[in-house]
Amino acid sequence: EPRVKLRAALEGLPSYRPGRSAGPSSEPAQSVYKLSSNENPFPPLPGVLEAVNEAASSLNRYPDMFATGLVAALSDRFDVPAEHLATGTGSVGVLQQVIQACAGEGDEVVYAWRSFEAYPIVVGISGAESVRVPLTANARHDLDAMADAITDRTRLVVLCTPNNPTGPAIRRAELAAFLERVPSDVLVVIDEAYREFVRDPEAVDGLEVYARHPNVCVLRTFSKAYGLAGLRVGFAVAHDDVADALRKTAVPFGVSGVAQAAAVESLKHEAELRDRVVELVDERTRVMATLREQGWSVPDSEANFVWMELGESTEDFARKCAENGLIVRPFAGEGCRVTVGESAANDRFLRVSQEWISGSE
Ligand code: PMP
Repeated sequence: EPRVKLRAALEGLPSYRPGRSAGPSSEPAQSVYKLSSNENPFPPLPGVLEAVNEAASSLNRYPDMFATGLVAALSDRFDVPAEHLATGTGSVGVLQQVIQACAGEGDEVVYAWRSFEAYPIVVGISGAESVRVPLTANARHDLDAMADAITDRTRLVVLCTPNNPTGPAIRRAELAAFLERVPSDVLVVIDEAYREFVRDPEAVDGLEVYARHPNVCVLRTFSKAYGLAGLRVGFAVAHDDVADALRKTAVPFGVSGVAQAAAVESLKHEAELRDRVVELVDERTRVMATLREQGWSVPDSEANFVWMELGESTEDFARKCAENGLIVRPFAGEGCRVTVGESAANDRFLRVSQEWISGSE
């Protein structure tokens, strides 16, 4: 009997592979730290849990499809018109809406590689072709090469700043020069999932860039700095035509009422959340400085993770981390991405990295 016809674009496409969860520990004597998905190690704030509880009492109803309350709060917080905001199920959900809106069979989407694992998947699903431009030797976007890669089939360029998994942020001046070279009918998506962790004063702030460029769309998320990864809320800031298109490609009622309530409440507790981010940024500074003292060469990270280039030793290093109760994210043959966690987790990681580099493993 003939089998169901699936789209050819899906052939050979992997499904998204999440960072391993901590799971039940095989060694109950030792805590296990999950440093594989760039999550926030701090639990939700009590006020956020209360808002979640309250919203849960209306779970028999569909949520507000256009997240009116959240959009109003975001508009206020970031000083952008409500018409320029679109929400979705995490920024990866919003990215999928963006790609659905702009690209399909016969089109090209340019992005740096290595970058976020979801890019090839969401582009592949759309039927468009991925054009991957290698990072520079110091793990940064090569914006000249990316501009050279644009053809008349390019519909979209995705920039990831800070770049997952390597860490560097794109600088203002290089982005300005790049945007000069991008045709005005090509959408430039600036994925700023980690923007709140950025400290380099030269680094791009997508919201400033968007204000001056109608073909720029910024993606932000509540998953990282706001600590709501489990609730799936992200948003885009873009000009009217793009934002309208994102509302059309959204899954109806995708962002739950509970998620909307938690996001709105988080915006009321930004000072507290910012203190946590400061603590994580301080930990990042300490982790990078210690790794460099130990003799590792790590790219500058402006995010909540560090990139360890390990080549063929990648899997061995990840295994050694696991033996010590640390779950990190290996990229076979390339390196490991390690999330900056609470200080005890980072202490343990720095002990393992020291042992590894001294060859005493
Ligand atoms: N963009 C980048 C660069 C990421 O690293 C991630 C999370 N790993 C996301 C987007 C997606 O995050 P979320 O869908 O949880 O907002």
